[in-house]
Formats: sequence, C-alpha cells, structure tokens
Amino acid sequence: MNALLLKKRISLIVYAIAILFLLIHVAMFILFLVNNVTPMVYVNIFSMLFYLGSIILIAKSKLAAFGVASYIEINIHMALAIIFSGWDAGFQITLIGIVILLFLSEYFARSLEKKIIPTIYLAPIAAVAYLSSYIVTIFYDAPYKLPQGVNIALQIGWAVIVFVIMSAALLFFVSVATRSEKELTEEVTHDKLTGLPNRYYMASFFQKIQEDTSSRKHWIAIADIDDFKTINDTRGHNCGDYVLQTIASLMTSISPNIEVCRWGGEEFLLVGDDRTSPSDALEELRKSIESYPFNYEGEAMSLTTTIGFAWKKEEQSIDEWINEADKRLYYGKESGKNRVCQ
Ligand code: GH3
Ligand code: MG
Ligand code: MG
Repeated sequence: MNALLLKKRISLIVYAIAILFLLIHVAMFILFLVNNVTPMVYVNIFSMLFYLGSIILIAKSKLAAFGVASYIEINIHMALAIIFSGWDAGFQITLIGIVILLFLSEYFARSLEKKIIPTIYLAPIAAVAYLSSYIVTIFYDAPYKLPQGVNIALQIGWAVIVFVIMSAALLFFVSVATRSEKELTEEVTHDKLTGLPNRYYMASFFQKIQEDTSSRKHWIAIADIDDFKTINDTRGHNCGDYVLQTIASLMTSISPNIEVCRWGGEEFLLVGDDRTSPSDALEELRKSIESYPFNYEGEAMSLTTTIGFAWKKEEQSIDEWINEADKRLYYGKESGKNRVCQ
C-alpha cells in the first residue's frame, strides 16, 4: 500500500479509537457523578481533557506518543476505578483488552517506520495495574461502591467492548498475516517482468510430477529466443523486456494444460503431458512467435525461437530430463535456429 494512504488510514483508525475512548469517559463521568464517586469524577474530567487534547497529537501525526499516553491513562484510570468503586464493576476487563490495542499500535508504528518503545516492555504495566488493584481490594473495602444494577450493566458493557475490540484487532492481524504470506510466496515463486512462475516454483512442480502415480506421461520443452542479444544491443534493454513479456504471453496462451515458466534470461521452460502433442503445440507456438507483429515504439521487428523437447523416461532424474531437452535445443541452434527439435 502507498505510504501516504497507509498513514491516512492509520490516522483515521486512531481518531476513531480516541473518539470512542472520549465517549466512554463522558459516560463514566456521568455515571460517577450520578453515583457520587467524587474522586473518579475528577479523574474523568482529566481523562476527557486528555482525549480532547489527543486530537491535536493525532493531527500532528504523533501517533506513537498518543498510543503510549492513552495506554498509561487507561491503566491509571482503571486501577483507580477498581480501588474506589470495587472489583464488581469489572473495570479490570479493560486492562486485558488494552494490551491487544497496544500491540496493534506497535504494528501501526512499525508500518509507518516510526521509532517506538517495544510493546513487550509496556504490556506488563497492565498486568501490574490489574494485580495490584486486585490486591488492594482484598485488604481495603472500596469506599464508593456502585449499586448492584450499575455493576451488572458495567460488567456486560466492558465485556462487549473488549470482545469487539479484541476480535476486530485479531481479525485485522490474521488478514495482514495471510495477505503478506501470499504476496511473499508470489514474489519468491514468480518472475516480476513476465509474471510467469520461476525456477523455484518449478522445483515444487517437478516434485509433484515425480510423485504422480497416474500413468500420465510428461514432456518438457526449453524455448530460447533467437539472437535476442542483438535486440538488447540495437534496440535497448526496455525493448528486450517488451519482447520477453510478449513472448511470455504468447506461450501461456497456447494451452491451459501446459505449464510455462521463465527458466532464466531469455529461456522459457514448458511442461505438458500426453493430453497435448508437444510437436504440434510447440510448432504452433514457434509459428505464432515467427508471425507475431512485434512493434516497440513504432518500430516493427521479427523474432524467432528455437525449442528443444523431450518426453520423460521412467529411469530419468529431473536433471537428466532437462539436460536432454537442453541438448535438443542446442542441436536446434546449431542447425539453423527457428525450429522445434526432438
Ligand atoms: P542465441 O540465438 O544463440 O540464443 O543468441 P542470443 O543472443 O539469444 O543469446 P545470448 O545468451 O547470447 O543472449 C541472451 C541475452 O539475454 C543476454 C542478456 O543480456 C539478455 N537478457 C537476460 N535477461 C534479460 C532481461 O530480463 N531483460 C532483457 N532485456 N534482456 C535480458
Ligand atoms: Mg539463452
Ligand atoms: Mg537466445
């Protein structure tokens, strides 16, 4: 994703989180005010001002600073809420949920290549806040206990908020991990210029052929563009790239049953089985390249290819099989090029 777009998206998510937290504090301010939990009324005035002020931090792109500051604010607020109004209101649930948001903010900061305090050092703060406020409730009775109905409503409210936030964050991580794995595999196994599978992909393809227990017979062909160096030398490298891309697409269009790979520079490897006659299909390919109207920046040119192919013999290893096709290709080059040799 484009860096600017990524930054915009992350800023939007952080704005949404700041507004959500502000609204939660407004609700808690009212709740504590109505139930006369005076110290927490003051704490919430501070918290509301903090989230209003944080809009400035986010606008100035100080996202990492906002992440750490809001994390500390939540820890202090929730620990005090537990100490003043007791364990039964469920404020501690938020301390578990906040850890996942902390990891999410580390991921955002890393995507934006910002310097950050590693989350692993900050996460224990929530554990300390949770356990220490719990220990306090064992020894001291909370001085401002909330009515039972309010406690029940709060327990349910916190549980819903934390489940939703945790599920959304984890869903996000799973989709990011899956997408990156897919992109990475595609990058490693495919050639950028032509989009064709490369040698690494073919290693696993050959493995499948070797493990194939059906009676299907396979053939392999190596196609090499004739006098390609002259194209690069006389028309430039970009023109050479255009030729490679065009020939790659001509190759993939001959049959869906033939696997095509960019084997190296201007050599392509084709693998088919007995559903397709290699002499017919490869001859058709050779002709289609020979007659194709190549045109780069308004200048026409003609190209040909030489192709060597071999059927796989029982006792042959993959390397021996490829070597055999390579020998046929060499023979084709020696005997005049632009031909299919078996
Ligand atoms: P022959 O008919 O015997 O095959 O001769 P040739 O000129 O095609 O073969 P040679 O092996 O001498 O030249 C291959 C050239 O392919 C050399 C190299 O610069 C070029 N090449 C390899 N990869 C790329 C690429 O990705 N893009 C471009 N433009 N050229 C490439
Ligand atoms: Mg070559
Ligand atoms: Mg060549």
